[in-house]
Amino acid sequence: MNSEDGRVRLILELRHAGIDDLRVLNAIERVPRELFVPRAFAHQAWENVALPIDCGQTISQPAIVGRMTEALRLDDRMKVLEIGTGSGYQTAVLSYLCRRVYTIERHRELLQQAETRLALLRRRNITARPGDGALGWPEQAPFERILVTAAAIDIPPKLSKQLAVGGIMVLPIGDDAKSQRIVRVLRDESGLNIEDLGPVKFVPLISGRTDERVAG
Ligand code: SAH
Repeated sequence: MNSEDGRVRLILELRHAGIDDLRVLNAIERVPRELFVPRAFAHQAWENVALPIDCGQTISQPAIVGRMTEALRLDDRMKVLEIGTGSGYQTAVLSYLCRRVYTIERHRELLQQAETRLALLRRRNITARPGDGALGWPEQAPFERILVTAAAIDIPPKLSKQLAVGGIMVLPIGDDAKSQRIVRVLRDESGLNIEDLGPVKFVPLISGRTDERVAG
């Protein structure tokens, strides 16, 4: 199957999976996923599956990218913080739906690869840096939206502090792959309202640990 057929089939599959925000579907259709997966998996780039990337990480399943992106209710005036750049795929999708994406990745190697891909696609509204995303990006806070693409045990307190009042954060929560849930956190004047959006499986958010291969 050529990549064009794959694209069309994937978008249909996402619609069947209940993703109906046309802006989100459009953004997914525009981002050439084959650029974000290892060459050995290029033939599966338009399948609705998670795939391995370097440093033992994964590029998320398109249906999960779709669900989490939709849950953010983005508009093109918003400033978004993303934790866990990984391949940069989700970052690229976000970049079509908001004003600017700030993204943090703990593996420098992944970050460099992601930045090369995003430059190739001429995405100019992305600022990326290496580091521990659980600490957020205080210099740029508050953010109208925050997306975390690695699972934490609890909502990282620094991230909820950096979420604007009226803002939304979407993240996987749970301590093992069997009990993780996607949650949507809405911040209002009185605090945080938490909504469960269903089960999911993500790599862990690794925070507060130094690792010589990663950002220091
Ligand atoms: N959104 C990515 C998928 C990322 S997998 C994509 O579309 O490809 C999760 C990523 O989170 C991994 O790259 C992992 O290295 C990163 N990560 C884990 N803990 C982190 C932390 N504390 N800060 C920043 N990145 C982190």
